[in-house]
Amino acid sequence: MTDRQPGFETLQIHAGARPDPATGARQVPIYQSTAFVFRDADHAAALFNLQEVGYIYSRLTNPTVAALQERMATLEGGAGAVCCSSGHAAQIMALFPLMGPGLNIVASNRLYGGTVTQFSQTIRRFGWSATFVDFDDLDAVEAAIDDNTRAVFCESIANPGGYITDLDAIAAIADRAGVPLIVDNTTATPYLCRPIEHGATLVVHSLTKYLTGNGTVTGGAIIDSGKFNWSNGKFPAMSEPEPAYHGLKFHETFGPLAFTFNAIAIGLRDLGMTMNPQAAHYTLMGIETLSLRMEKHCANAIKVAQWLEQDPRVAYVTYAGLPSSPYYGRMATICPKGASSLFTFALKGGYDACVRLIDSVNLFSHVANLGDTRSLIIHSASTTHRQLSESQQIAAGAGPDVVRLSIGLEDAEDLIADLDQALAKATG
Ligand SMILES: *Cc1c(COP(=O)(O)O)cnc(C)c1O
Repeated sequence: MTDRQPGFETLQIHAGARPDPATGARQVPIYQSTAFVFRDADHAAALFNLQEVGYIYSRLTNPTVAALQERMATLEGGAGAVCCSSGHAAQIMALFPLMGPGLNIVASNRLYGGTVTQFSQTIRRFGWSATFVDFDDLDAVEAAIDDNTRAVFCESIANPGGYITDLDAIAAIADRAGVPLIVDNTTATPYLCRPIEHGATLVVHSLTKYLTGNGTVTGGAIIDSGKFNWSNGKFPAMSEPEPAYHGLKFHETFGPLAFTFNAIAIGLRDLGMTMNPQAAHYTLMGIETLSLRMEKHCANAIKVAQWLEQDPRVAYVTYAGLPSSPYYGRMATICPKGASSLFTFALKGGYDACVRLIDSVNLFSHVANLGDTRSLIIHSASTTHRQLSESQQIAAGAGPDVVRLSIGLEDAEDLIADLDQALAKATG
């Protein structure tokens, strides 16, 4: 072995995986076991005191899930990672140690529709709140942060409108305020964007999408940069004695792994949003081909977006990979390998033409998902973004005349032909 640092494509296959110590199995086995036998009473006590790391019970830790956690931490360049049952679970688990009644987050107004609902409605039941601002308006982001703010939240490439966030500028604002920047990197994946390199503290993922890659699994992950100072007085759950662990202080005891240990020992233990080992296995297999798939997703997306842009039936296309996009210039710093394969386009025929288009496609699947090998289509305003007001829909890039595409891995020419015939029916 040399001192070389392995590249991304090596790590996406090997990080976190080693031949099974009991059997030599080369692929990561599915450890379908709820509990793990303690060596003796002292070993059990050490595990329960967090003095030794090991397996107790699969609500907390499981060897298959641990392999995926190590792979995600490695690919994102973080100190540690925790996997959980869905992307939405990851968002709640990321906020849980930071928040309390009366505290708030400052969030981008360009987010996945379900996240807007989670942040504007559901978290209020915990006494938390979110202030939504335009993250292109850096002064507005700074002004929205107050003494009760405990996190700044955005997506690297925002779903669904082809928007790229200036992560470095937002991270600098969060840093000045002494709060972590949490970046949802679902649409970009760590192959296209590594938010920690741009100053993110925590990265959250819906593993459901490109990382697993073929529409089989619901899963989430939180990756911690390990770089945030949790002892700045704002985060008592991380810095003050934890009564449920004999007064242990997470930040003092675990340093760069404080968030990871807290998310397992408190978050998974008490919220129970655990990933199952079967899901972890599917996701590990998906990640092995992440780079190849993302290259093809991006190449196909450019071809389809370019074709749509020149079509007279189309009002506009919002894909950051097109030179006409106002966000094209940000690709060079944020996601130089590509702008992923999620974008929207607007039909001159408005709402009715959108609905007819959706009903006329053959190869595209009409589903509420993204990041699949298959190409997917949805009319956000009548589905994923239906809980939002029309002004929220427009702010999120999902107005009534807008159709969202997630371009898969088929032949681009076949995708274009399908859209062409469906547009003819929709606008004829
Ligand atoms: C799908 C998605 C989520 C939610 O993830 P689930 O796995 O469906 O819970 C969050 N953020 C983005 C950007 C998503 O695409």
